[in-house]
Amino acid sequence: MASIDVLMSRFYSYDTMYSQELREQSFVDWPFREECSCTPEKMAKAGFVHCPSENEPDVACCFFCLIELEGWEPDDNPWLEHAKRFPNCGFLTMKKDFTELTVGEFYRLEQERLKIFHRKVCHMKMAHFRDAIDRTLENMKSLLDSMKGISK
Ligand SMILES: [Zn+2]
Repeated sequence: MASIDVLMSRFYSYDTMYSQELREQSFVDWPFREECSCTPEKMAKAGFVHCPSENEPDVACCFFCLIELEGWEPDDNPWLEHAKRFPNCGFLTMKKDFTELTVGEFYRLEQERLKIFHRKVCHMKMAHFRDAIDRTLENMKSLLDSMKGISK
């Protein structure tokens, strides 16, 4: 899963990714071509941007809901995979092409995208905080145990 920094840089750079053409261009090194159900064109149509890393070469991320999917198979249908995991994604439920949106509609979509991003960051920070609490409790317990050992 992406770190908060990666998530942040994706969020800020993906405001251009409403363009299907730009999304498709991100799939230059994508292994699934012609005969596959998840060609670059179909991936881009389903809202995905290719964001590979050294260890995860086939990670694709929705520019809107920032959901990350990997482990793609040639027969995977990108739209269905996306809808299975986040049926309410604002991109999937968009009724018209980006070029036909009014300024007001675009503004509301960007608000929604921002809300999803903040929710994700909050969840990640809360998870880090919970881990930190668990670690502190463990440290305190072992400290107490060692103090008990000394007092005996
Ligand atoms: Zn999405």
